[in-house]
Amino acid sequence: MPVPEPSERFPKYLYMSVPHMSGREMPYVQEAFESNWLSSVGPNLQALEAAFQDRFGAPCVALSSGTAAIHLGLRLLGVGPGDEVVVPTLTFAASANPVLYLGGTPVFIDSEPQSWNLDPNLLKDFLSKRASQGRLPKAVVVVHLLGQSADLDPILEVCNQYEVPVLEDAAEALGTLYKDKAVGVLGDVGVFSFNGNKIITSTGGGLLISKNAAWVEKARFWSQQARDPGINYLHSEMGYNYRMSNVLAGIARGQLEVLDERIEQRRAIAFRYRDAFEHIPGIALMPQASYGFHINWLSSFTLEPDVFGMNQRELIDFLKQANVETRPVWKPLHTQKLFQGNECVGGAVAEDLNKRGICLPSSTSLSPEEQLFIIERVIEAHELSQVHA
Ligand SMILES: *Cc1c(COP(=O)(O)O)cnc(C)c1O
Repeated sequence: MPVPEPSERFPKYLYMSVPHMSGREMPYVQEAFESNWLSSVGPNLQALEAAFQDRFGAPCVALSSGTAAIHLGLRLLGVGPGDEVVVPTLTFAASANPVLYLGGTPVFIDSEPQSWNLDPNLLKDFLSKRASQGRLPKAVVVVHLLGQSADLDPILEVCNQYEVPVLEDAAEALGTLYKDKAVGVLGDVGVFSFNGNKIITSTGGGLLISKNAAWVEKARFWSQQARDPGINYLHSEMGYNYRMSNVLAGIARGQLEVLDERIEQRRAIAFRYRDAFEHIPGIALMPQASYGFHINWLSSFTLEPDVFGMNQRELIDFLKQANVETRPVWKPLHTQKLFQGNECVGGAVAEDLNKRGICLPSSTSLSPEEQLFIIERVIEAHELSQVHA
């Protein structure tokens, strides 16, 4: 059956997740210009890091991207050439690419259906098998996907047992809670992202956070070209140009002040979709694990094509014709050409979520009218496919 045409197109394209400035950013940017702190040192950087330290209770360093933060984080955990690092297969490539930067090899593990995140039981079996073979991975990357925390207690317990350090990739989960505790500071190193599509943005940036203050200082040192003390350009370690600029830190600073508002808005958008689809069969909001507080960074749904009437690709096409951007849930990394040949434990859950999962527009700047238009088109897609069936 060809995909039917929607009855209406929205006058402008409705993107999935766009930057949403609050008005508090410009004064900080202005200050940076007026004081000429236009590079990688300055008061906005200090204030941003202080604000994160206040909120999360751990020291941190602001960086040029979340990917850079993962790179430095994995280096702190000792990952080097030939080392294996566990990464959940259902995530964005940026969770795994830094393993390659360090010469390591990602080993992928499937998701659990209850949270779509790293399956603690598969991890447990994998680590116990590897321990008995004497080849434990160097580190585990835990991703809090789409704004929902992984089930950290069993994950941290088994990693502790085998003394494998944990990096939390909380790029999509700024403000997410696990059992009333903020994610990002529960493992050994945590990472946030301020990329343009994330819940708050500095237009591009990231942050590394850890209770281990010496590690944070080391990351700061590496992020600024690993300059040893003295004026004669002394270097004893390999560095990077990964520091955030003071201008962008001003944007992040203003954005952080409205984070809690943004979280409430993202959740409200997800729940508005959920409620509107309550009587539409075959479309359901992703699980909201009872152990946590899910910020619902992207409103993500699973389809049962037989009941809903369209499969994921058909619905994506239908909505695109209506000027609505949607995407499949992440394509599992073990199915990417880049990682062909990498080991993957399981994988069927992630493949199914990629096949049936769809992310709907979730920008906090989405107006109620815009969201209503999207809701109506999804309902129309269902109804048209019933007529054609
Ligand atoms: C966005 C994202 C990153 C990378 O962050 P950048 O700031 O864009 O480099 C890493 N991991 C996940 C899961 C992400 O969604």
